[in-house]
Amino acid sequence: MDQQFIKRSDMDFLNRSMPGVLLYAVIWPLLAWSTELYLFDPTFTLIFACVFMGISLLRFIHALSTRFIYKLYPDAWRTLLFFLAFSQAASLSTLVVLMINQSAYHQWVITALLILLTVISGAASSLAPKLKFTQSYLALLSIPGAVACFYSEEFRYLVPLFIACWLYSMFSAQRIFSEYLRAFVVEHKLKDHQKELERLNHTDPLTGIYNRQYFDDALSIQWDLASRANTHLSILFLDLDFFKRVNDQHGHLMGDKVLCYAANLLKDKAKRKSDMIARYGGEEFAIILPTTAHQDAMELAESIRESLHGHDFIEGDVHIRLTISIGVNSTQPNKQQNWLSFLDQADQALYQAKASGRNCVVSYLDTVCDISRVT
Ligand code: GH3
Ligand code: MG
Ligand code: MG
Repeated sequence: MDQQFIKRSDMDFLNRSMPGVLLYAVIWPLLAWSTELYLFDPTFTLIFACVFMGISLLRFIHALSTRFIYKLYPDAWRTLLFFLAFSQAASLSTLVVLMINQSAYHQWVITALLILLTVISGAASSLAPKLKFTQSYLALLSIPGAVACFYSEEFRYLVPLFIACWLYSMFSAQRIFSEYLRAFVVEHKLKDHQKELERLNHTDPLTGIYNRQYFDDALSIQWDLASRANTHLSILFLDLDFFKRVNDQHGHLMGDKVLCYAANLLKDKAKRKSDMIARYGGEEFAIILPTTAHQDAMELAESIRESLHGHDFIEGDVHIRLTISIGVNSTQPNKQQNWLSFLDQADQALYQAKASGRNCVVSYLDTVCDISRVT
């Protein structure tokens, strides 16, 4: 969350500071050229116009380079951003102090103060995502002017105004930052809840593996992918044998534990990242094996069957011997078939496995001539 907050506040700070960058670039030339200040002292006016516009230009370039620099050097990116913003504030403060100190500029001081107050109020509200920076920034804009006024007889009356303005802007920045932080936390929690809801939506609550709905969606996607890539696709359809007896003899709760045990065993066996295991119904499971050819799918199915048969389920004094029947289907998807009939064929193979005495693996491709059966 910390890292996420830093990144988010970096980007918000950057976006929110852009109008201010534009303001810095235009407001001084507007003031100088619309009053007689430019005629009075062109050099002074031009120097500050160049400083403000130059730093604004650098800040625009910095903003444009964000997507190239930020990922690699976020600290350097942030330092440069703060440095440029501080430089602009320092220039404005210097300008105000110079005008207060030199009586020749006194007739324009109030106009310059208007600029300063506009920048201060804008900064307090829009730069709040970086509270520490904003507090220093506001101090840099307010304190030098207040000190200069204090030492100037003509403008000493403005000192309380400077201090009130500074304190108010600090208070506003603090309050806006708290609201910003709260909104971020709420948004973060909502995202987490949404993720959890999505997870629950495609998860079987008992075993924690995928549910049927998700399996069907995933199979249709894998079917399309394999069809486009011309790769193999296999599925296993698995059904615990005589599971009703487990419930009847040991109770429903024990039956539930057996289902979880079976699901974990399947997870252990179908280990590839792309393999997808789901609980398809009560004691029925299904596994999608992308880019897996028929022979490999058969071997995996046989290994699952052997493993379940070879290890009793043990819980306290209870020992339960389990067996499973598995239907296998493999193909290279094409336009003549669809994933539903592919699934149905795996179901038919499972039916054959049951009909052949259970505890066996049957491939749909071999149903006519070969039934792989091990007892
Ligand atoms: P077969 O070898 O033909 O598959 O026989 P079976 O007994 O496994 O199959 P059947 O369809 O007759 O019974 C399935 C049983 O699975 C019945 C049902 O009570 C049980 N079952 C389904 N869902 C759950 C569950 O969530 N928990 C428990 N404990 N049992 C379940
Ligand atoms: Mg069964
Ligand atoms: Mg069944």
